[in-house]
Amino acid sequence: MNKERKLIIAGNWKMNKTVAEALDLVRGLKLELTNVKEVDLVICPPFTALSEVSKAVLDSNLRLGAQNMSEHNFGAYTGEIAAGMLKEFSVRYVILGHSERRQYQKESDELISKKAQAAHGASLKPIVCVGETLTEREGGQTEKVLEMQVRGSLAGVTKDQMTETVVAYEPVWAIGTGKTATTAQAQEAHAFIRGLLVKMYDETVARRVRIQYGGSVKPANARELMSQPDVDGALVGGASLEARSFGDIVKNSI
Ligand code: PEP
Repeated sequence: MNKERKLIIAGNWKMNKTVAEALDLVRGLKLELTNVKEVDLVICPPFTALSEVSKAVLDSNLRLGAQNMSEHNFGAYTGEIAAGMLKEFSVRYVILGHSERRQYQKESDELISKKAQAAHGASLKPIVCVGETLTEREGGQTEKVLEMQVRGSLAGVTKDQMTETVVAYEPVWAIGTGKTATTAQAQEAHAFIRGLLVKMYDETVARRVRIQYGGSVKPANARELMSQPDVDGALVGGASLEARSFGDIVKNSI
């Protein structure tokens, strides 16, 4: 597939996989994806598996991501994990502001922007998630919500940092539900987000930023979604938990 930007496909394993299961999955992924060079491949295991998985991916094309991090660099923040700690395990990416964290941990755009700045401070590339709920879409609020989330979550991120930031458009109603946005809905939202980046930064920056789609991506719908001009990859939940399905998503996207 001929794309303006290199695709980036990331697997968000969420709160799944013991260390042994994670290593098993990595073994499978290495077999499935060994020759893939056309796509940046990222896996985001739970924190507890990062140490072992980081060793297992050393000789591969799989890059490591975390699912969250603190906005602070160190100190009295019980239960939190700092960017510098992730760097010890060769983590390169970090998912920020996933809708599950926005919903269950009440993460705000302001907090997410602090985390994004802390990630860049440690040379981690944030994958900043945005997306509307079904009520918001049905109420015609999609663009308003996306604008608020994009502007709020990226506040303070400089031009240079922005080109090293990934945005994930994840309509909340499509996450883990089996409902996927149509290719037209995805392209429309991605083009809107890129247009916002032009206003917030400039044309050059906006053209360089990769915008992933997330929400029930499967081998069967990956190709069509990735064929859209402003869709530059995928953030995959459920289908990233098995080597075959994640592998097929990647292969069908090339
Ligand atoms: C996600 O959690 O980021 C996600 C897109 O999940 P799923 O692929 O299961 O919808």
